[in-house]
Amino acid sequence: MQLEEDHQGPHLNGQHLRPESLMMSYGYNPEWSEMAVKAPIYQTSTFVFKNAEEGKAFFELAYGLREKGAEEQMGLIYSRLNNPDLEILENRLRFWDGAEDAAVFASGMAAISTMLLALLKPGDVVLHSEPIYGGSDYYIKNILPKFGIKSLGFQANMTASEVETLLEESGLAGNLAMIYLETPANPTNHLVDIEACAQLAQKHSTADKKVLVAVDNTFLGPLFSHPLKHGADLLIYSATKYIGGHSDLIAGACLGSMELMKAVKGMRTFMGSMASPWTGWMLMRSLETLKIRMECQARGAEEVANYLKNHPKVERIYYLGDLQDNPAQQAIYEKQCLSAGSMISFDIRGGEKEAFTFLNHLRLIKLAVSLGGTESLAEHPASMTHSDISLADRAHMGIGENMVRISVGVEHPQDIINDMEQAFAKV
Ligand SMILES: *Cc1c(COP(=O)(O)O)cnc(C)c1O
Repeated sequence: MQLEEDHQGPHLNGQHLRPESLMMSYGYNPEWSEMAVKAPIYQTSTFVFKNAEEGKAFFELAYGLREKGAEEQMGLIYSRLNNPDLEILENRLRFWDGAEDAAVFASGMAAISTMLLALLKPGDVVLHSEPIYGGSDYYIKNILPKFGIKSLGFQANMTASEVETLLEESGLAGNLAMIYLETPANPTNHLVDIEACAQLAQKHSTADKKVLVAVDNTFLGPLFSHPLKHGADLLIYSATKYIGGHSDLIAGACLGSMELMKAVKGMRTFMGSMASPWTGWMLMRSLETLKIRMECQARGAEEVANYLKNHPKVERIYYLGDLQDNPAQQAIYEKQCLSAGSMISFDIRGGEKEAFTFLNHLRLIKLAVSLGGTESLAEHPASMTHSDISLADRAHMGIGENMVRISVGVEHPQDIINDMEQAFAKV
């Protein structure tokens, strides 16, 4: 029997079901497919119309030629516009963040670029935190200017009033259209105050222009940080990371209100940046274990961080569970983070040589970029993920030659620690 549902989602005995209870079967009806308990992969490019009148009606809705009737359902047309695997996945994904709607993409970068092009226009200014993901940084600084869209960066650990002063003094405040954040910042784990940024956006909004706040929630979401609840308008995910969670696919997502997502999905149709049915199906499978994976990884990371903190060859660690020395960051953590997650960076005593020796001797932990998968990964930000940032900018961001970044997986934490111990012994 189908569950009863209101605008917040399905409920049972007067209680809304938690997201983890909805990931296995919500939005899929076994009668669509020979009573199979799981949704099949709808590996198809196009969908058959019952008759020409139906085809006409679907196109009228897809292209916004008329309003949808009260009882009318949007039908399937063509897999660039939508596909059952993507629709079911999008309907499940939105529960974690309490978003009205979601769209999935071929990659995190596809989600970011499509969202920015959908919601910005020539003359607009994007205020963004720094550092942000290398691809996003490149897109904002090198691609958007071709379309007359300017940007202004601020350091992730600046206070709200410092950001405001920077914006005022730039002379760009009048054209502010979006504040784009990545919190925690990669690889320093610096937190940005989402609520303060939402207030700044509000202050620069006018009756006919709302300044939007978009947050790349890849590092802590969708479990441990819910930016929409702190005033953000849009969320971005590289679903390649925790949501996919097995280092075996590339995908992205964008979530927000029905109204904003209509614009984003419209742009997706014309960019052709949607995910494939196969990727959609893989992500549905991943969502079933999202919570247990992320909780297990966060518990493991806590043990690994404790070990690193006390290690004589470690100069400093960057971990959200260890912010006691920084009350301003600790306050933001308490306001908007539900867990420290499983990303840890640390400075090894020495420089690149010591960092490389450590990385080259790891045996269980793999030396690779990316993060959020079931296996632990380690990398060297200064020469890998952040190598296209100038030395001066890296120094400014606090990314030294002696920094190592770890994404903690689901292995037994003691095995991860043992691997690190033998690698440190070689340094
Ligand atoms: C990986 C990553 C991206 C880009 O995602 P892809 O799936 O690789 O396109 C964007 N933002 C953050 C924070 C990331 O870690």
